[in-house]
Amino acid sequence: MGTGASDAVRDPDACPGQCDKPIAYTLDPQFSTDERALIEEGMHVWERGSNDRVCFAQGGRDLVIEKLSRSEELEPWDPEWRRHVALTKGGRIWIVAPRIEDPGEYRALVVHELGHYLGIGHIEDTAATYMHSTINDTPADLWSNARLPKRDGQAFCDVRRCTCSY
Ligand SMILES: [Zn+2]
Repeated sequence: MGTGASDAVRDPDACPGQCDKPIAYTLDPQFSTDERALIEEGMHVWERGSNDRVCFAQGGRDLVIEKLSRSEELEPWDPEWRRHVALTKGGRIWIVAPRIEDPGEYRALVVHELGHYLGIGHIEDTAATYMHSTINDTPADLWSNARLPKRDGQAFCDVRRCTCSY
């Protein structure tokens, strides 16, 4: 990917330029230092992968990420809460922290939920995506070496009606 200079933006109202509309976020104070670091790494995956069209800034309520200790706490919002370790709805992401053991999996889950927050649905037409409906289908390589696959960057561009050069 280049610097973005060659990326034509079809509709500037829908498609943000570089760090045009930062997403002001707040993390639940219950997250540990390690968890916060993994969440912020997940944000950087989207920032780098979108050439900074996606841009996060600490302190605000565009996006609030909350830590839950039990899946049951998802029940009010999610009829399938028994199967889920996280949920994104509106400007909120809930993460059921104790159910995720591997740090790479935790980060992959954050990237997945941030994708939903950005308006992207599940992607099943390729192996190389963070957006499979089942987190365990995410390639191990994307757990250990976090970077946004082209398919996911393209999905963001499609949703935001950006013309991106992937
Ligand atoms: Zn999902």
